Amino acid sequence: MTPFSFTDSHCHLDFAELSHQREQLLQQCSKVGIKRIIVPAVSPKNWHKVIRLADINLTKADLPQLLPAVGIHPWYLQGLTFQDLDNLALTTQQNLTKIVAIGETGIDGKIAKQQANLAKQIVFFNAHIELANQCKLPLIVHHRSSHPVIYQQLKQTPAQYGGIIHAFSGSYQQARQYIDLGFKLGIGGTISYERAQKTINTVKKLPLNSIVLETDAPAMPLSGFQGEANSPLKVINVFNLLCQQRNESPEEIAQAIEININSLLAPN
Ligand SMILES: [Zn+2]
Repeated sequence: MTPFSFTDSHCHLDFAELSHQREQLLQQCSKVGIKRIIVPAVSPKNWHKVIRLADINLTKADLPQLLPAVGIHPWYLQGLTFQDLDNLALTTQQNLTKIVAIGETGIDGKIAKQQANLAKQIVFFNAHIELANQCKLPLIVHHRSSHPVIYQQLKQTPAQYGGIIHAFSGSYQQARQYIDLGFKLGIGGTISYERAQKTINTVKKLPLNSIVLETDAPAMPLSGFQGEANSPLKVINVFNLLCQQRNESPEEIAQAIEININSLLAPN
């Protein structure tokens, strides 16, 4: 039992690994103080699945609040066209009472190399930024080998309602650039990795009002847990790891992070 409230700001709860025992898992989350879970969609195929998750709270008020985001992840662009972007806008407009963010979107530098699709990734990313601005929603951004491109796009077309740089890894200077553009940094399992010293050093120095927690479950299992599967429950472990790197009290950190989430969810 912990006295704090937590939000997993990035969990793919609709994926098969997590959906087969979802209710039991969510009950466990409730017990340890996990009160909210943001669930980003990754492609048109799972938009409605993710949106429907919000309905769970209509009948089960004691479970964590499930907060859907819709978007197209840069890994899933193959075969998609402008029509899919129009459909994304329409789906968002039609479900605005449930959707809390646009994403997951972003730029993946490794995929851009493999598939030679950087130009397409940029077009899709920009469309997401514009949609987020139109709908007054924050943006959830995937990055991998792509900080300069993402930063350039966000400078050109600012995300007016901020967002989260999901699974942030990078230098303090890179973090600072996103913070100055109104973004929070999603801190997750990366800080459990011995090899992630650069990111760990960044996390030590970040202003507390720029940090949110995430698991990215079922992806990104934490190091040091004997290969245990990742789940939203691990947000507590991420929190503990974060506390080890910071000078503030756990109470102060937990409270600040919930305030950060609140500011994203209700920017006005
Ligand atoms: Zn993700």
